[in-house]
Amino acid sequence: MTSAGRFAPSPSGELHVGNLRTAVLAWLFARSSERNFLLRVEDLDRARSGAEAEQLRDLAAIGVTWDGEVVRQTARGPLYAAVISRLQAAGLTYECFCTRREIQEAPSAPHAPQGTYPGTCRNLDPAELEFKRSTRPAAVRLRAGVREYTVHDVLHGAYTGTVDDFVLRRNDGVTAYNLAVVVDDAEQGIDQVVRGDDLLASTPRQAYLASLLDIPAPEYAHVPLVLNSDGLRLAKRDGAVTLGDLAAEGFPPQAVRDRLLESLGLPAGPLSQVLTAFDPAALPRKPWVWRGMAAAGAS
Ligand code: GLU
Repeated sequence: MTSAGRFAPSPSGELHVGNLRTAVLAWLFARSSERNFLLRVEDLDRARSGAEAEQLRDLAAIGVTWDGEVVRQTARGPLYAAVISRLQAAGLTYECFCTRREIQEAPSAPHAPQGTYPGTCRNLDPAELEFKRSTRPAAVRLRAGVREYTVHDVLHGAYTGTVDDFVLRRNDGVTAYNLAVVVDDAEQGIDQVVRGDDLLASTPRQAYLASLLDIPAPEYAHVPLVLNSDGLRLAKRDGAVTLGDLAAEGFPPQAVRDRLLESLGLPAGPLSQVLTAFDPAALPRKPWVWRGMAAAGAS
């Protein structure tokens, strides 16, 4: 299978300049290393009708092109179910009946970061299991054999993070992101994962799961986020941040693309012409502060 990079947006709304900058970077990483570039719509959760078409339109408008058909996670239920069955058969899962609130209120293990699952349902005896099954539907959790795992990231170097008994399938039957992303990347031949560095902390969980499934870890590059002028992660409420908003202010998609390239220390122009100037080692390592198109050159 040809190696590939990818962009995997959740179709929850229009892409903003932060999302677009990550997409440009993922494209540059893939194309500069002779990889295919795939687009996967992560619509298991948070999907808003119409958002996918807007996202594809905006990616195309700035020159982020992709190979083959767009893949949608909602079409891949049987694939995820087969992998969860495989893990179940190997004794690597258990049923969990905890509510979010119970998890928040449970005492966590010493030194475990906030949100780490404390293992409440890990060793239920048969009577407890039978009783809990009669009360509410179960989520499926991974029975993790480690507490932490180390990944290698092109921009962050070795990164060690927590691995807990994370959810593989939610109790409403929806496949969890951490399972779907590992299964999809492997099945699509993706061996390079470029995404926002807000996902770095989830990466040890995903790489550990991949190891259990005999999937080689991809090359990871977690790129800096775009922040608003208050230093917070950019969001739709931060004014004109989508291609549509910016076009209404008189800035066409090419101008936005050039602004994103400038923020990366790259020359303006169509993405294919920027490839020779692209050097991952020279990328800015700090978040970029978005102050609008009018504040040219400021960062
Ligand atoms: N769908 C995720 C998001 O939009 C990205 C997942 C990934 O790139 O692995 O935040």
